[in-house]
Amino acid sequence: MSDGQMTRKITYEGDLDPHFADEVAASARGEQLFTCIQCGTCGGACPVSPYMDLTPRRIIAMTRAGYKAEVLQSHTIWLCASCYACTVACPKEVRITDVMYALKQRAIRDGVYPKRFPVPVLAREFFHGVLATGRNNELPLLIKMYLKTNIFKMLGQAVMGLRLFLTGRIGLKQERIKARRGEKGDLQTIMAAVDRDAPAKGGPSR
Ligand code: SF4
Ligand code: SF4
Repeated sequence: MSDGQMTRKITYEGDLDPHFADEVAASARGEQLFTCIQCGTCGGACPVSPYMDLTPRRIIAMTRAGYKAEVLQSHTIWLCASCYACTVACPKEVRITDVMYALKQRAIRDGVYPKRFPVPVLAREFFHGVLATGRNNELPLLIKMYLKTNIFKMLGQAVMGLRLFLTGRIGLKQERIKARRGEKGDLQTIMAAVDRDAPAKGGPSR
């Protein structure tokens, strides 16, 4: 095989998940994804589509067709910057950004996000940090992310981290709110309501 040729895995009909599109549509309140006309306007409007492995148009098409594994393991859903440009431009009012959110949640829940890819690790650690303290504490968040993705990158960021610390942009003290649990309207209750699709406790499966 020449260098330019790519190996493509054949997906048989039996590999597809016939319920996947309905589940994603329900989670994203995005039934309009079934009305997509595959015009590609979303990809044209998307500022990061050149870096995606699957364009937003393909994500919608493959979700509808039940390519669950391919969609959940794609880098696209983690590169999406949630800018809503695609959603605004879509002539069929498909809630593409919300579909991306639903896919991210599902990928974390199923533990199939790309191993050591920083964005899902950051999202997961952010969630657990806020759940524990009620605040986003940047320093422990960044340390955990680098330890679980690429510790050598943390060493490369040490000088910038020191500058941020010296200028008071990040601190060592962990901030906490008082009403974390046991009170009406407390943090745990709010987070439980938000987190209908709770992230799996284990890490990625691959
Ligand atoms: S812009 Fe809308 S209708 Fe066109 S491909 Fe994207 S999701 Fe489908
Ligand atoms: S919301 Fe995501 S997919 Fe849509 S245009 Fe922005 S980055 Fe691209």
